[in-house]
Amino acid sequence: MSFVIPPSPQPSVEIAGSGERFPVHRIYCVGRNYAKHAREMGMDPDREPPFFFSKPADAVVANGTPVPYPPRTSNLHHELELVVAIGTGGSDIPLDSALAHVYGYAVGLDLTRRDQQFAARDQGRPWDVAKGFDHSAPVSAIRPAAEMGHLEQGAIWLEVNGEPRQRANLSEMIWSVPEIVAELSTYFELRPGDLIFTGTPEGVGPVTRGDSLVGGIDGLETLRITIV
Ligand code: MN
Repeated sequence: MSFVIPPSPQPSVEIAGSGERFPVHRIYCVGRNYAKHAREMGMDPDREPPFFFSKPADAVVANGTPVPYPPRTSNLHHELELVVAIGTGGSDIPLDSALAHVYGYAVGLDLTRRDQQFAARDQGRPWDVAKGFDHSAPVSAIRPAAEMGHLEQGAIWLEVNGEPRQRANLSEMIWSVPEIVAELSTYFELRPGDLIFTGTPEGVGPVTRGDSLVGGIDGLETLRITIV
């Protein structure tokens, strides 16, 4: 095949402890999947279920890579999240077989222009400029489920400059991983290479240039990002 301009490189994420890489197809995200975070955003999780949005695949940033502070915001927020990597695609995936579609897990940061998000919310506009900007999706190396099993519980935490900001347990997710995979696959045909950011717990807040972010989930590689 002959392209008229050079094709964009294939975005990918490292596989932990291996020289191999996971090719990223799409990045889906779950909004308000922890009750305390929904409340800190001014919403009632008992009345509104979680929902989906997305980021472009090339928003991924490798662990340890400096992240440039994005333009057009003065309120960049951290959201530390469990990331699910899809290995086998499908539509209308049944709940009881959903985990068979999961290749593995990683730690991710859903970086958010919070000022743009609130402006979009107030004006009934899409979230793309708030969520889908360049370098908005740092992700640690993926750990295969074949090696570690599946994650239902475990600490999820984030420190900024050594100070605790977010701390919760994966068991507090409103939609579990199988529920997310099953529900998302009713909207989109999931494909191998899809990443799903599963939502952030409470404690989100602003970061600025020079800040050092360290985030972890029990059993996964720690994510380390500096804002420059
Ligand atoms: Mn998020």
